[in-house]
Amino acid sequence: MSGPVLRIAIPSPLYRTFDYAPPPDTDISALQPGIRVRVPFGRRSVVGFLLELGHDTPLDPAALRPAQAVLDTEPILPADVLALLRWAQGYYHHPPGDVFAAALPTLLRQGEPAALPQPPLLWRITTAGHAARTQAAPALRRAPAQFLLLDHLAAYPDGAAAEDSLRPVVRDSAATLRALHAKGWVERTAPTVIPSLAAPPSSIPAPVLNEAQTAAVAAIVAQLDRFGVFLLEGVTGSGKTEVYLRLIEAVLAQGRQALALVPEIGLTPQLLARFRERLPGPLAVLHSGLSDRERLHAWLSARSGVARVVVGTRSAVFAPLPTPGIIIVDEEHDLSFKQQDGFRYHARDLAIIRAQRLGIPVVLGSATPALESLHNARRGRYRALRLPERVGGGRTPSIELLDVRRQPLIEGLSPPLLERMRAHLAREEQVLLFLNRRGFAPVLFCHECGWLSQCRHCDARMTLHLRQRRLLCHHCGDSRPIDITCPTCGSVDLRAIGQGTERLETALQQEFPTVGIARLDRDSTRRRGSLETLLTDIHNGQRRLLIGTQMLAKGHHFPEVTLVGIVDADQGLYGIDFRSSERMAQLILQVAGRAGRADKPGVVIIQTHHPDHPLLRLLATQGYPAFAAAALDERQAAALPPFAHQALLRAESADPERAMAFLQAARALAEPLAAGLELLGPAPAPMERRAGRYRAHLLLQAVRRQDLHDFLEIWTVQLRKKPLDRHIRWSLDVDPMELY
Ligand code: ADP
Ligand code: ZN
Ligand code: ZN
Repeated sequence: MSGPVLRIAIPSPLYRTFDYAPPPDTDISALQPGIRVRVPFGRRSVVGFLLELGHDTPLDPAALRPAQAVLDTEPILPADVLALLRWAQGYYHHPPGDVFAAALPTLLRQGEPAALPQPPLLWRITTAGHAARTQAAPALRRAPAQFLLLDHLAAYPDGAAAEDSLRPVVRDSAATLRALHAKGWVERTAPTVIPSLAAPPSSIPAPVLNEAQTAAVAAIVAQLDRFGVFLLEGVTGSGKTEVYLRLIEAVLAQGRQALALVPEIGLTPQLLARFRERLPGPLAVLHSGLSDRERLHAWLSARSGVARVVVGTRSAVFAPLPTPGIIIVDEEHDLSFKQQDGFRYHARDLAIIRAQRLGIPVVLGSATPALESLHNARRGRYRALRLPERVGGGRTPSIELLDVRRQPLIEGLSPPLLERMRAHLAREEQVLLFLNRRGFAPVLFCHECGWLSQCRHCDARMTLHLRQRRLLCHHCGDSRPIDITCPTCGSVDLRAIGQGTERLETALQQEFPTVGIARLDRDSTRRRGSLETLLTDIHNGQRRLLIGTQMLAKGHHFPEVTLVGIVDADQGLYGIDFRSSERMAQLILQVAGRAGRADKPGVVIIQTHHPDHPLLRLLATQGYPAFAAAALDERQAAALPPFAHQALLRAESADPERAMAFLQAARALAEPLAAGLELLGPAPAPMERRAGRYRAHLLLQAVRRQDLHDFLEIWTVQLRKKPLDRHIRWSLDVDPMELY
């Protein structure tokens, strides 16, 4: 066989590439790794991704199917993203087709051309043209078509008309325009910026940086030309975003681009407005809420270099940038950076790898850094930079633990907390209550026989939602009308147990009938614009009692809030996941950080049944750094991450036995290979049944990362060789963030 073999990644669960012959009559020199190719796959035609040009194939070369079409003339992804994806594919042991698909917008995966739409060519009348028209120049009088067109342009509202729109005006508009152009009566104008990217000139003057900000900016700017990881730690309001803006300005001034990654929930209009106001040049935004077309457009404008700044959520870590100069990861501890299904990458970790390969700095910012990141800073791998104070010198809110043991709780609220709320509300201040459970109550229960509102598909209770008059499963999405009588015994004595934000709202309406209440959770903000309405009401003081889930924790600032109540901190203290307490501490501080301002520092009251819990006490008395240090010590003593490295093999099946049997077999394969590794399980997942499928897992743990990866290299090959059991789905999660 003469021509090269195309090694193609195709979106499929198979851990392999596929070989094809080039399409007939292709210029071989045009085939470069990184271009898209349309190929026949089974009976379908799919868009694949050319990984490499080979010279041999294990298949019969004569039987090699030819690709159908080459879709790009140049690689669709820049070399550094291609290299990052290859690295990620090896590290996460995920099928190549899926990995490459994750980096491309949907429309490109479907084969759309990778070209920005051409801005329409505009025509407008010149001063000479105006003169000729008003004076009815002789040359014009002899050419009625030109006269007509000039008239039309003179009256055109915005002064410039798209060429297409002139076609109906006269018979041969193109020729007429040429004639007018030759006489200098009309001219062409091209819109230079794409309207959706257009940025108003920066109008807001930048504040003078304080000492800590100056030091942080200087430390990073001094190293813009090389790789380094900077951990920027500072409470909410300490000026981290201001530091990002200065760094981005410095990078833009060098003619380079900046990439800022933000959590799903942190990408607020406020943040974007601030970036747009302050930064010169077009900005592209990449997140899951965009239409496919908008996303493609933003992506292409990053790739073409038109967009100078790219702000996006997780998958923006793969954004194509011709001239990258810095990567910023805001709220680096946030869980949304980890993809929780399919290709389970961690965008923060990949941002570091990408920056390393590019030789540029990466800045990780947080008020509550992940223990992994703090550990890396302690070991000197990251450079720690601190912003110790709120800008303007305001104190950070003080934290009090409130012992609720033996207290008569009114809908989950203790009398001392209610008393404090009353006092703050009486001073016309605002109060915020945090309860991370939406709905009315987490379970409906029969007082007669003990029946519980169990989900049919999951090992979970269905949550009662009174507004929607339904029971909802928060795990599989199933819902049904609320039972009026017990399905088991027919009793009408059904009771709602436990707390949800809806119930809290109802209770507080009775307790504080004259105070406007704002509930912020996924239910109350589902309708477009409802969140904005609530925020406006809060800011103008019409609603002063705020209740919400973790939606409250990011992005918004409530300067009039002087009291924050954490309704229930206990679920985080003894959660099944070893990261529960870290998460709880981060959430509490994130919520606390929303409140107060310089002249009105807030108070945070945490209701707990475990007021002596050592980590909780540290958090309350000495703050996050002390908490984190103690939590890291605990992790070290227990040899848990970041002092060990984990991978989780998950399996699920409609039949509980099969998933376990698969994992037993996987463990048997692993045992002879697993030097330096600990194998834990298999065990059923904490919620064994979800959406009708039984889930179990096998946890692998190693003290040395390299041992784990050497092992995975061999083991995953063996696993994939096992005869395919179509009744089982399995997946590997490297560096899992959640153990279920
Ligand atoms: P963070 O990102 O840490 O929450 P921000 O950068 O958003 O903090 O700063 C908090 C507020 O203080 C913002 O309104 C910001 O404009 C303002 N700010 C930040 N730095 C300064 C400064 N050096 N001088 C005055 N105001 C500042
Ligand atoms: Zn009953
Ligand atoms: Zn369910």
